[in-house]
Amino acid sequence: MVHDLYQEVILDHSKRPRNCHAMEDANHRAEGYNPLCGDKLKLFLKVEDDVVKDVSFVGSGCAISTASASLMTESLKGKRREEALKLLDRFHELLTTDTPVSQDLGKLVVFCGVRDYPARVKCALLGWMALRDATARARAGEHETAEMVTTSEGDTAS
Ligand code: ZN
Repeated sequence: MVHDLYQEVILDHSKRPRNCHAMEDANHRAEGYNPLCGDKLKLFLKVEDDVVKDVSFVGSGCAISTASASLMTESLKGKRREEALKLLDRFHELLTTDTPVSQDLGKLVVFCGVRDYPARVKCALLGWMALRDATARARAGEHETAEMVTTSEGDTAS
């Protein structure tokens, strides 16, 4: 029953993704591509004083990748950059290990079923990999570069 509810949330976010638009005044961007499934997305971040002020994305992909990016944007607003990366670590753990589901993840727990489908893990991680890429460049003090990141074998959140 719980899992039906989770699927409903995923379906809702894949059909009506939140924060799904380009952001003109973003100061960090990254693109992600998952060749296994064909998912593509572009992530926009506005980071000020190390806090995620705004985040949005555009892209085309499967239901899992779209829903994951949508829920990610909802989870990130107002977070400090290091909190965002911690959330990425926990989310990665949720998808790839058998550890008990952490309640800290909030709504992101709806993706816990993905761990049973290893082929879909990269779909669910795509937006987060773009986030990691964008925040890494934010730390390096670089602006306005948009390199493509690709989720590849052995790509971890560590
Ligand atoms: Zn996909």
